[in-house]
Amino acid sequence: MWDFSTDPEFQSKLDWMKEFVRKECEPLDMLFPHAGDCYDIGNKKARAIARPLMEEVKRQGLWACHLGPELGGQGYGQVKLALMNEILGRSLWAPTIFGTAAPDTGNAEILAMFGTEEQKQRYLQPLLDGDIVSCYSMTEPQGGADPGVFECTAVREGNEWVINGEKWFSSNARYAEVLIVMCVTNPDVPIYKGASMFLVPADTPGVNILRNTGVHGEPVGEGAHAYIRYENVRVPADALLGEEGQGFAVAQARLGGGRVHHAMRTVGQCQLAIEMMTERAVSRSTKGSLLGDKQAVQGYIADSWIELQQFRLQVLHTAWLIDQGHEYKANQLYIAGIKVASAKVFHDIVQRAIHMHGALGVSDEMPLGHMWIYAAMMGIMDGPTEVHKGTVAKNLLKQARPAEGMFPSAHLLTRREAARRKYEGMY
Ligand SMILES: Cc1cc2nc3c(=O)[nH]c(=O)nc-3n(C[C@H](O)[C@H](O)[C@H](O)COP(=O)(O)OP(=O)(O)OC[C@H]3O[C@@H](n4cnc5c(N)ncnc54)[C@H](O)[C@@H]3O)c2cc1C
Repeated sequence: MWDFSTDPEFQSKLDWMKEFVRKECEPLDMLFPHAGDCYDIGNKKARAIARPLMEEVKRQGLWACHLGPELGGQGYGQVKLALMNEILGRSLWAPTIFGTAAPDTGNAEILAMFGTEEQKQRYLQPLLDGDIVSCYSMTEPQGGADPGVFECTAVREGNEWVINGEKWFSSNARYAEVLIVMCVTNPDVPIYKGASMFLVPADTPGVNILRNTGVHGEPVGEGAHAYIRYENVRVPADALLGEEGQGFAVAQARLGGGRVHHAMRTVGQCQLAIEMMTERAVSRSTKGSLLGDKQAVQGYIADSWIELQQFRLQVLHTAWLIDQGHEYKANQLYIAGIKVASAKVFHDIVQRAIHMHGALGVSDEMPLGHMWIYAAMMGIMDGPTEVHKGTVAKNLLKQARPAEGMFPSAHLLTRREAARRKYEGMY
């Protein structure tokens, strides 16, 4: 059965979330507005406001809802999570207040899946409790979309691994307690078999942050994305997360979920942009009538709503597929599809919203400029659009068969001839 309804009990939770995010989380966005702010455990003022809000979310049973009950979550599944993330996506701080902020969500998942008991005790519980933040350090300055060019190595020396190399755009490294670092451990085999993942405490000697890059619009040098040089960083043998050579299996386990969650939050951002458009359309007049009376503006609003409606259903359908119990890998086609759509739909809607606001739209007095950059980020982080389009196409091409004859199987003359033969003498 296809069913698009939300059960009333869960709807009341969503209603509570909507109100709570608007009243309690959105003010934090105004006071601490930079991408890194919600990860800065050392910011006492921000934490003093955030902590009681997190406790309230826990009391409501809505904390870390991406997790199954074995890890302290509700085990709601992806469809419910999608509906929740739409609401959380409207605010920078809301995912942190609800214990579902990336990249900690994905990092917690791989710790739960691949970590030893000791690793879990040291990092997983404090991560799940929101007491520490973590960093995922994989991309290198010379290439992110092509892991084949990765150079950061870990070499075994006695009971230790020694890490040397550089990583780029390691988000939140400056606030993190632990860095999850992908290193080449066997350069003689393809990278997909020769890389391993390590848990590196952030205060280990040799972990040198060269600079903290921000995204456009943030204060220069005070961003959240670290350029790190690992210089003779020594970690014990048991710092390995998962097996030696299993680095990509670990990476894939976190990236699938992460892409889906980003798409869910993007729905919320697009809804916000459309609300801004419609409010503007009924508030601003030009040449004697409201913007909303102009056909071109109606076109912007209609196109945006239609694209969002399609995208939202695509996200919910992908969430539903994952809830059917298939692994992320089995839904690769659908996840890559929503990853591509997230960036495009977000960009197109925000672009129209900016345009409708005129100069105000591009100014730093509206959130739209930041949303526009965020749409660009969506097309790059967790892999560029082009790569995910390749995944979509390759999945479809795998199912395709070459035409049997000279002409395509849809060739009308050939089909008509076959139909004539089938019903010879009957028509
Ligand atoms: C906001 C943000 C946060 C991030 N956080 C992290 C993090 O926490 N940890 C981490 O390790 N990394 C992180 N990254 C890095 C991200 O994973 C990489 O930026 C991404 O994988 C692309 O790598 P690149 O930037 O080196 O671009 P490149 O690999 O140089 O690609 C540049 C462009 O080349 C084109 N291109 C690349 N490959 C192909 C292809 N196969 N076919 C056609 N065209 C192609 C695309 O247009 C692509 O955008 C983050 C990035 C952003 C923007």
